[in-house]
Amino acid sequence: MKMFIANWKMQLSLKEEMEYCHDNLESLKKSPHKIILCPSFPSLIGFTQLLHKTDIALGAQNCSAYTQGPYTGQVSAVSLAQAGCSYVLVGHSEERASCNLTDEDVAEKALRVLEAGMIPIVCVGETKEDHDAEKTHEVILHQLEPVLQKIEKAPIYIAYEPLWAIGVGETPQPEKLGALFSWLKTQIQGVAFLYGGSVNEKTIKPLLEIDHISGFLIGGASLRFEEFKKLIF
Ligand code: PEP
Repeated sequence: MKMFIANWKMQLSLKEEMEYCHDNLESLKKSPHKIILCPSFPSLIGFTQLLHKTDIALGAQNCSAYTQGPYTGQVSAVSLAQAGCSYVLVGHSEERASCNLTDEDVAEKALRVLEAGMIPIVCVGETKEDHDAEKTHEVILHQLEPVLQKIEKAPIYIAYEPLWAIGVGETPQPEKLGALFSWLKTQIQGVAFLYGGSVNEKTIKPLLEIDHISGFLIGGASLRFEEFKKLIF
């Protein structure tokens, strides 16, 4: 059994997200895998009601690094837990870029998620430039350093999402990805590793064979259920 995490980003409206969940719930429930849906904030409470008494879990796409206070527009981890989330994505590359997040900020967010009783899915990954300069290991360790310093023996997931593989339709070569995850496993123990970046019907087969990958973050290929269905069955 693998984890399949649908990250819908800001691609669907509230109405579209609710319809997706409502219309495909019976089918989603039959997947042999662990399904985690990450819709946008306004859909969370509606999803909690729809997903009640199912094994499908709910995740948020982001949370504040602060516990509470004068932070207009931010959403606290505590509120997300109260809304029914069990997981929160933190440090997605799109948020790192648009909000100038530091690795410290990402670690603070992961801490808030844990304090609220949920599991943080910490996203890391290098740019094409760093990849070509063979700095992948260095970048990942740097991104994770504050997280690993602040968090000991807590349930966290680490999602490796190379920026150059997100949304382009092609994944890294499976052998290279296998080597990367074997290396990650030697560096960090006691966490689950995920892969994200252009996982779709065409690319998934060899990825399923790679050791130490507990699941996948899926963006584009999760937006239409007809496509997502081909991955989760
Ligand atoms: C993502 O951005 O988390 C992601 C996995 O996107 P995609 O599957 O579209 O590459």
